[in-house]
Amino acid sequence: MSIRPVLTRRAAQPTLEGAGVHLHRAFGFGDPTEADPFLLFDDFRNERPQDYLRGFPWHPHRGIETITYVLAGTVDHGDSLGNAGSLGAGDVQWMTAGSGILHQEMPKGNAAGQMHGFQLWANLPSHLKMTAPRYQDMKSPDIPEIVDDDGTVVRVIVGDFWGKRGPVDGIAADPQYLDISIPPGRRKSFKIDTYRRAFAYVFQGAGVFADASAPVGVRLEKEVMGQDVNIRDLSGNRTLVRFGTGDEVTVRAGDEGVRFLLISGAPLEEPVAWHGPIVMNTQDELRQAIAELRNGTFIKPQH
Ligand code: FE
Repeated sequence: MSIRPVLTRRAAQPTLEGAGVHLHRAFGFGDPTEADPFLLFDDFRNERPQDYLRGFPWHPHRGIETITYVLAGTVDHGDSLGNAGSLGAGDVQWMTAGSGILHQEMPKGNAAGQMHGFQLWANLPSHLKMTAPRYQDMKSPDIPEIVDDDGTVVRVIVGDFWGKRGPVDGIAADPQYLDISIPPGRRKSFKIDTYRRAFAYVFQGAGVFADASAPVGVRLEKEVMGQDVNIRDLSGNRTLVRFGTGDEVTVRAGDEGVRFLLISGAPLEEPVAWHGPIVMNTQDELRQAIAELRNGTFIKPQH
């Protein structure tokens, strides 16, 4: 077994999106190879309705998948094909935009004003960029939850884990998406196949991700070289941790325990041409998408 070293860690950055939604972006619109096959990760946890109620009115997507995981409050969504619904606490929506959708996503919050959740963008490989749009909506009870002997809880949103399989399937990037809560002081290891890119997003408590067996030649940030990484130092509970190669991730929970998303996928290693919510392989494909938005042919007939 080789433990994946911590390559970088950083706090998600305050970002204004949609019609004026205050969120925190862990990555996105930077170097698209960094987290390949993932393009963007937004943390939209917010407790001030005036900072999220304007929402994300009508906008297009093409060439990607968006994965929304709600922890508190609700997100109402509707699209130009007539699909509509509402995501509540614990629910997940995996939307394959494929050839194109026009939709809106409107956060509503709960009675306490909380709107908590995350959105991940996964890239589609060239042969699936123009696939038919598809939704997979999972209600919270449909998501397997595994409780280990030591009290560790893992919600398996996508992929195989400890003998359970998450309800989302047929996803091009072959992702694994886990929501992991570890009790205070416990140390856990999680196997992640070597070919995958992996990151963690810490959002509650604190933990120490070990990189004790960092292979020679992997350059680590100065503050983590030869050291464990204490997430509490940096995070405010919004910390992205990117891992290098290896076949497992280890973490030791701090005094309050730790909760984080552990997300991995197989890199696509294709060219990326990116314009807002449209991500293609070439500039020509981007130009075509924008021309189609203008002339009303963006949405393809469904068979
Ligand atoms: Fe969207």
